[in-house]
Amino acid sequence: MNLRLLKLPPLARPRGLQARAVLFTSALMALTAAVSAAILIFGAQTKGERQQITIAHDLTEYLASRAGDVMAHGNTRVLEMMLQGSTQQPNVRAISIRDASNTVLAQTGGTATDDAVMSRLAARALAEGQAVDSRGRDGAVIVAVPIVRQGQVIGVALRMWETGAYKFDAIPSLAPFLLIVACLALAAIPLTATAVRRAIAPLDELARYAEQVGEVGQVAPINMRTGDEFETLANAFNNMTGRLDASMRQIQEIAFVDPVTRLPNQDRFIREVDYFILQNQAEQSTAAIIVIELTRLPRLMQTLDPDAARDFLRVVADRFVTAVRTVDRVVRVKGPSERQAVPARLNVSEFGILAPDLPSASDAARFAQHLNAALDQPFDWRGHKFTLGACCGVSLAPRDGQDADAAIRHARMAMAAAHAAPARVKVYTQSLDREAVARLTLEREMRGALERNEFRAYFQPKINLRTGRIEACEALARWIRPDRTIISPGRFIPVAEESGLIGALSDAIMREACWKAASWARAGRPTKVAVNVSALQFRSDRFADNVLRVVSHAGLAPENLELEITESVIMADPERALRIIKPLRDAGVRLAIDDFGCGHSSLASLTKLPFDVIKIDQQFVRALERGEPRSAEIVEIILAFARTLNMEVVAEGIERREDMEFMAARGCHWIQGFLFGAAVSAPEFAELLRRQDGEDVGAEDAA
Ligand code: C2E
Ligand code: MG
Ligand code: MG
Repeated sequence: MNLRLLKLPPLARPRGLQARAVLFTSALMALTAAVSAAILIFGAQTKGERQQITIAHDLTEYLASRAGDVMAHGNTRVLEMMLQGSTQQPNVRAISIRDASNTVLAQTGGTATDDAVMSRLAARALAEGQAVDSRGRDGAVIVAVPIVRQGQVIGVALRMWETGAYKFDAIPSLAPFLLIVACLALAAIPLTATAVRRAIAPLDELARYAEQVGEVGQVAPINMRTGDEFETLANAFNNMTGRLDASMRQIQEIAFVDPVTRLPNQDRFIREVDYFILQNQAEQSTAAIIVIELTRLPRLMQTLDPDAARDFLRVVADRFVTAVRTVDRVVRVKGPSERQAVPARLNVSEFGILAPDLPSASDAARFAQHLNAALDQPFDWRGHKFTLGACCGVSLAPRDGQDADAAIRHARMAMAAAHAAPARVKVYTQSLDREAVARLTLEREMRGALERNEFRAYFQPKINLRTGRIEACEALARWIRPDRTIISPGRFIPVAEESGLIGALSDAIMREACWKAASWARAGRPTKVAVNVSALQFRSDRFADNVLRVVSHAGLAPENLELEITESVIMADPERALRIIKPLRDAGVRLAIDDFGCGHSSLASLTKLPFDVIKIDQQFVRALERGEPRSAEIVEIILAFARTLNMEVVAEGIERREDMEFMAARGCHWIQGFLFGAAVSAPEFAELLRRQDGEDVGAEDAA
């Protein structure tokens, strides 16, 4: 099985996963480095600030201890001098010494806002009797230390300290650390990238594998021994593709193989032909597309039970394949190619062959003829012999079709024409196309004509050779166009058969014939009427019922109706013919074998069929006319055969008096032909009957 026929659409592969992973981890590393640096700097800064506050406390306590003595002496001037020295320090914004009632004794620096802040903190320190500090809104630290003398709080010393000046003092000392962090981060980026790439490499491999499965349809299992989740995933993949492959095989089998014969089916055949045309566009090589129909196969299959039908079909398919292989060797022995012909089963009764590298129509026709000959041989199956009747249509691809549909359609068109062709083989030509169009037009016109009742029965007299009188007639269909032109059945019956219109048409003729014959009988001139039965009508299981209904509606005596069934229709399936005609025979309807001698009757079958009449085919009368050797003997044999079976004989197509005399002399019962008149309309035929009653054509006269 060719997997290219069922290819999955390619999967979209997730590209850039590695790049994204590397980018993400690098960003993570950079962020980690930045956060670490920030934490270090913040830590250092906080530590520096705490140191500054401690220094501020120490200095303020020192000031408070010294200020106590000075305050005891009440010398505020000394206090001011003490403060002057302190404001030299860069981070001192204000220093203040206050008495127990929070009144400033000496102060240096500070704004009005600073004063207010210091005053609030001084009050707190005085109230609590211990050192307190607070942070101002602009980041300055204020420390207030109570001034104690002999256990008494006599005042408070305040220092307002700018910590901002020391904020980044710690950073230079951190520089080596920061550098190391930055370097580590930089070195970690490529290392992490490589590690990430390594870590997700199996994923990439799996993605590629999935892509391959999608594109090619079938690949060897993936081998991954990572011992982790990737290995589990790979095993799941293998499991999945294995099952997918099995399902695909199953689907292809169902979709492309005929279940009974195991041959490629029609869909597969179409793909093969399309593939051939596509592949060979450049080389311009040609293939023959052959469609072969086994015309009697469907009917035969219907009569067999399903198991037997399948078994028989397999026998037919075996013969077909063997024939294709043999013919392929014989016909293409000089061919340039090694490519074999591809046989296929297209539907119930049709088989197809793609025969590559058969450029000439005559070789293709020869191929088809050999096949026909092989399939025309009777099939010996379970003690019975069956002939299936093969018919071949041939087209050449790409000449007769740029794609499989067109090439196969044209081969089928040729096959339809092959039914009437010598050797039952036809090669497609463009004129077949034109004929097909003409046939379709005719079919369309016929539908309208049927509705407008333009198909009428004409009646050709049959002379009873014993009485010399018109005692019977054959109803023959005529298409009377509105412009009064008359079209004969040779043109429309085949189209009616093909399109299925024959049923309605024949019913109309049958009704008219029965009604007319009944009216002649009522007028005192009972005349037998023969009506032709088409192959399609005969296929219907309701055929006998329909006929009997028409006969009874018309009020015709059943023995005045004769049904003409051609020998080939009867011989297609003699057992079925017997089944169908039995109720008619039982009702009294007469049955005639039409065109006797041109089918392939088996005498054994004929003796079993209850027919009343044999109509000798016109070809024997024509042979008599031409004086062909043995023609007379053949007619005599037919007459003798009929006599043995107690059947009447009608000689049709009699145009010459001597032929009529020949028939009469040998015991033929009925004569029909232009010698007595062609088919005429019902009123004209009634007139013939009336005239006959007026002036009898005597038996002696006729003889
Ligand atoms: P068939 O049943 O064998 O009819 C005899 C054909 O021979 C008729 O052709 C008839 O006109 C023609 N014929 C009669 N006498 C002579 C003669 O002396 N010389 C020559 N050369 N021909 C003669 P027609 O009417 O063209 O019918 C042709 C065929 O069409 C019939 O052959 C019959 O098979 C079929 N057919 C005619 N009417 C119907 C119908 O209503 N239903 C069906 N199913 N088939 C019909
Ligand atoms: Mg006939
Ligand atoms: Mg005939």
